[in-house]
Amino acid sequence: MIRAHRTQVDLHSYHPRVTPTYRVHVLPWLRPLGGRVLIANWLAITIGHDIWCWRPLDVAELAHELCHVRQWERYGVSFIGAYALASMVALSSRRHWYRDNAFEIAAQQAASVEIGRDAG
Ligand SMILES: [Zn+2]
Repeated sequence: MIRAHRTQVDLHSYHPRVTPTYRVHVLPWLRPLGGRVLIANWLAITIGHDIWCWRPLDVAELAHELCHVRQWERYGVSFIGAYALASMVALSSRRHWYRDNAFEIAAQQAASVEIGRDAG
């Protein structure tokens, strides 16, 4: 099970040296809206090359969202279905639909690299 999970993360690509084209939209009024539609303590959502957030992102948070931009580049509109499928895969093995989603794990790894840079 763990091995399959790792393979899946690899398939969702993580190319930290490649910075994709992106735009960040900081809109504080999105905070309560996203809290209702997404998850309670949400910060940002990436749709294509656009990152929508309710406050400015730090370097690690941006790295997380840029990983999602790369995932969008790779999958196009079908990323929505692929993300939903990854959530269902997580749920089917009694894991969390968001935290254990393979796309989120890849994005967290991207963020971890930046956190490591800050520490070092
Ligand atoms: Zn994410």
